[in-house]
Amino acid sequence: MAHTLLDKVWDAHTVRTLPSGQTQLLIGLHLIHEVTTPQAFQMLKELKLAVRMPERTFATLDHIIPTDDQSRPYADPLAEQMAVHLIRNARDYHVPLFDMSTGQQGIVHVIGPELGLSQPGMIIACGDSHTSTHGAVGAIAFGIGTTQVRDVLATQCLAMGKPKLRQVRVEGALTTGVYAKDVILTIINVLGVKGGVGYAYEYAGPIIERMTMEERLTVCNMSSEGGARCGYVNPDRTTFDYLRGRPYAPAGETFDRAVTWWTSMASEPGATYDDVARIDGTAIEPVVTWGINPGMSVGVGQRIPPSDSVVEADRSTFREALAHMGFEVGQPIKGAKIDVAFVGSCTNGRLSDLRAAATVANKGRVAPHVRALIVPGSQQVARAAEAEGLHEIFQAAGFQWRRAGCSMCLGMNPDKLVGREMSASSSNRNFIGRQGSPTGRTLLMSPAMVAAAAITGAVADVREILR
Ligand code: SF4
Repeated sequence: MAHTLLDKVWDAHTVRTLPSGQTQLLIGLHLIHEVTTPQAFQMLKELKLAVRMPERTFATLDHIIPTDDQSRPYADPLAEQMAVHLIRNARDYHVPLFDMSTGQQGIVHVIGPELGLSQPGMIIACGDSHTSTHGAVGAIAFGIGTTQVRDVLATQCLAMGKPKLRQVRVEGALTTGVYAKDVILTIINVLGVKGGVGYAYEYAGPIIERMTMEERLTVCNMSSEGGARCGYVNPDRTTFDYLRGRPYAPAGETFDRAVTWWTSMASEPGATYDDVARIDGTAIEPVVTWGINPGMSVGVGQRIPPSDSVVEADRSTFREALAHMGFEVGQPIKGAKIDVAFVGSCTNGRLSDLRAAATVANKGRVAPHVRALIVPGSQQVARAAEAEGLHEIFQAAGFQWRRAGCSMCLGMNPDKLVGREMSASSSNRNFIGRQGSPTGRTLLMSPAMVAAAAITGAVADVREILR
């Protein structure tokens, strides 16, 4: 019988079946950061427990750090306190920490793959909803809560129920100006923000297979926004080429042996799925969200849909979205004025994202009323971008070039929306208040589309700029 990657990885990491019916799973990699660990370490201290596998635990600072002046102590006392706790806990529990001095600091979901920590066939856990990102390398990667962070720290295990598996096939070929972000926003729009509840998503089909690793990371990143427990792409040549030579990836003959094992973990032809969804990728155009969850989106050439386009149960959210965003049914999304442009986050803060945004930035200047931030996802991304001169392109066009961090993805550091500002953002959540202002408004889109909005001052069709 043919098996899926989910089956094989799950079985390989099963310690035992618990009386509850859940599986006790061994976690191959535990990534931690400053926000969801202080209480977990405190609980560990109270229980007088050590970190069970510090060699499989890695820490970084990302959510709360400023992206301009990073001198300590941070201006925000709470941010400073969280940094102090993580630094102290990492030292006391012998957990490697990628702080600013290492040159390897960055957003947890950027540095895991970038350093070769995230590998095919692993089970990866992190106290953050977007841990699904790491599934792009062929891993099963879950976001977990603070209590589970404690459990993994203490035991390197998690009690989990096995999700069902939906294969999401993206068929055809993407057209110019359409990116991985447009693919995942379309998937979420079609299947719904709760469509993946109870499922893992296996992304497949010609468009996914042709994607670079960075594009796959973008797709897997937003699995949780579609309700899925995790999302992954089967490991293939693209995966192995990406991992080869990375600091924590196996080297030499060990790498070749690892490739053999990684290859064996991929889903087999003829494997069965609980569900298969097919998306016509050729029909995807640049996507912009207009509402208050990532499923409320339209193609850039389309208008805000009528309320009868959603089921009765979703109508109150629909009305709330219109009221919050200040949009009207039938209004074209193109031309909606923006105040802020943000390129960054664990969805779209990688080198290829910055390259795509720089290509567009090179064709104009940031509109006078727009505040535009480019925030690399890691120190390594920043160095690589600077080596190519991307920072100079951005600065010449009027964008601010910042240091690595989560920045304006969420309101936990000084990069925040003010009042009712409207933001064109390459991040992953447009929930009310997400970017730091309770009345602020977020339009999710690809990095190239953000750059296009920045230089035109309003939502624009990047294809017209790239022509
Ligand atoms: S960039 Fe945003 S989604 Fe990603 S880890 Fe940071 S806060 Fe979470």
